[in-house]
Amino acid sequence: MSHKCKDSAPSSRRGAPQTVVALAGNPNVGKSTVFNALTGMNQHTGNWPGKTVAVTSGTYESRENSYRLVDIPGTYSLLAHSREEEVARDFVCFGGCDAAVVVCDASCLERNMNLVLQVAEAVPRTVVCVNLLDEARRRGISVDLSALSRRLGLAAVGAVARKKKTLNRLCDTLDGCVKKEDALPFRVPYPNVLEEAVAAAIPFIETRLDGGKKHPDARWVALRLIEGDPTLLRQLDGSLGGGFTDSEAAKAAVLAAKAVFDAAGVEINRAGDMIAASLVALSEDICRDAVKTEKGTPGAAFDRRLDKVLTGRIGAYPIMLLLLCFIFWLTLVGANYPSEALSALLMSFQDKLHGFLMHTGLWEGACDALVYGAYRVLAWVVSVMLPPMAIFFPLFTLLEDFGYLPRIAFNLDKPFRRCRACGKQALTMCMGFGCNAAGVVGCRIIDSPRERLLAVLTNNFVPCNGRFPMMLTVLTVFFAYGSSGASSFTAVLLLCAVVLCGIGATFGVTALLSHTVLRGQPSSFTLELPPYRIPQVGRVIVRSIFDRTLFVLGRAAAVAAPAGLIIWLCANINIGDASILSHFCDILEPVGSLMGLDGTILAAFILGLPANEIVVPIMLMAYLSQGTLADVSSIVQLREILTANGWTPVTAVCMLIFSLMHWPCSTTIITVYRETRSVKWTLLSALIPTLCGFVCCTAVNGAATLINSLIR
Ligand code: GDP
Repeated sequence: MSHKCKDSAPSSRRGAPQTVVALAGNPNVGKSTVFNALTGMNQHTGNWPGKTVAVTSGTYESRENSYRLVDIPGTYSLLAHSREEEVARDFVCFGGCDAAVVVCDASCLERNMNLVLQVAEAVPRTVVCVNLLDEARRRGISVDLSALSRRLGLAAVGAVARKKKTLNRLCDTLDGCVKKEDALPFRVPYPNVLEEAVAAAIPFIETRLDGGKKHPDARWVALRLIEGDPTLLRQLDGSLGGGFTDSEAAKAAVLAAKAVFDAAGVEINRAGDMIAASLVALSEDICRDAVKTEKGTPGAAFDRRLDKVLTGRIGAYPIMLLLLCFIFWLTLVGANYPSEALSALLMSFQDKLHGFLMHTGLWEGACDALVYGAYRVLAWVVSVMLPPMAIFFPLFTLLEDFGYLPRIAFNLDKPFRRCRACGKQALTMCMGFGCNAAGVVGCRIIDSPRERLLAVLTNNFVPCNGRFPMMLTVLTVFFAYGSSGASSFTAVLLLCAVVLCGIGATFGVTALLSHTVLRGQPSSFTLELPPYRIPQVGRVIVRSIFDRTLFVLGRAAAVAAPAGLIIWLCANINIGDASILSHFCDILEPVGSLMGLDGTILAAFILGLPANEIVVPIMLMAYLSQGTLADVSSIVQLREILTANGWTPVTAVCMLIFSLMHWPCSTTIITVYRETRSVKWTLLSALIPTLCGFVCCTAVNGAATLINSLIR
């Protein structure tokens, strides 16, 4: 999911103006893959519809031109129904692009053709890029590109975007297309009454158009006025100058069109249906000429068989659970040894670094702060977080690339509907596993504002990148201690249980909200199950290491080093007989112990607001500065530090629960505000998980204390 508006560094050839090209297409047809291949950027790709929800732009140089390529959210139509579809429509129709490339899926060209026709009606220089030719071949589908091009009167090129070389034709064709001086928009033939109405409206509209190249043309504007979509008309106002739709010219155009409809005895409000029907009929007609399908192909049959297992009544839930367990098991077991080795290596530099800094003549207190504060926390973050992330993220991305995520959404649709929410919430939940801020932005794929809000408010119940390492560490230290198979098995089961608790809390809170403050019925939606795709293992590993693992690690390290320094200072500057940090921890101690934690853990969670990744390092820093142990060079020592500070398995369980349920990180909180534009909902998004965490931790601690006293 791309959640930011990214931009690669602008570079234009010899200062020439860049040609702006909109990259449009249905969801999941390979737009981002084309975009990445051409611009060299790393926009997130994944095998499920709806992951691109914002506009991203990048530059590339062809043989002849300098282009600014704009990757817009996937959409099936320019008649927008959701926010990201509106973003796509507004850019294509009013964004002032010089040309458009519509990326299509060769294995279901007819469904893609609707958008091709709509874009070509709005943007005269349109190129059709028929992608996924390899997949179509596997399904026994062939596309006659010259027939397609002839029928559309547009350039049509084939591609297998995963193979960059196959995009050379697209670049050359685009060069040829933007050179054309007199390109005209495509004309979809509409029923006579509509054509006559358009012809009657055009003269009035032309009085308001200045004939500029980038304006939509008069026929297109006439169609939109007759169709009367209010959101599009608002944009039209913005594009053609304020008040266009209320102008005398526009009113006269609509009256002229209405007169034609009235004379034919047809209601003008049927125009929208007529337009949609004409597009569908033309799409069918074109694809009859251009697409050939061999019957009974093995590819499609395989997908259907696999779907029966993965989404069937018997297999769906057990397989989801097993996969979850398997991923966690691989992560936990695989991370143990590299983690220890890395830790030993980094800690071996600690004294050398201290010696070196002393040698430079730096004051000893400053050397201590830099090495035992900043460096030690940084080393800890790297050695404990890097190995599990380097295993977990590629595994998760492989599943995503394979096409399993939408199947999860499909499986969870029923329980979500029972909670009066939308099944697409499962997809936003999966995004939350990566980053809750991304999950919150991803909620835009949910059309109903009520259901979108439910998904936003509950997204924090799935642990993100930043929280996984914290949970994995606690589990490894307390429950997978040593390398016996049984202990790692216990840890895996516990982690699954924690994640399932998070999912359970998502359902519970969603149901509670939709029966109280966010009352309403679930809306219907269609979820497209994409074909299974063989993941690009090499690319997935490289990208998940660079885009996710190192990104999270970098963020953690960037915050951890200065935070380590500040906390070290707080831990070593005394007020009265105790350090500032101890005072802070002491204040929180009563609440902490009520929750089965302690003041230090709670202080670490509060100070870790900028990024969850730094909670454990801060906590450790606070413990270390209080003089319990001098060094942390392995999981063994980490366990010693924690137990020396009063940790028991109950503390570990409460810590796990609180990691799962507490306020979101500051980035997510800001994102919730940006998405909801409401202080109330933003506050609630932080309050709900915190309250749940407080109640659960207190209950677990209370129960454990009771059991302990009974045993004694
Ligand atoms: P977008 O939603 O349109 O931006 O689609 P993406 O670029 O994210 O691609 C969706 C999935 O299709 C990813 O798993 C890509 O690796 C895969 N993909 C893209 N192009 C091709 C192709 O030509 N052949 C095959 N087999 N897979 C492709």
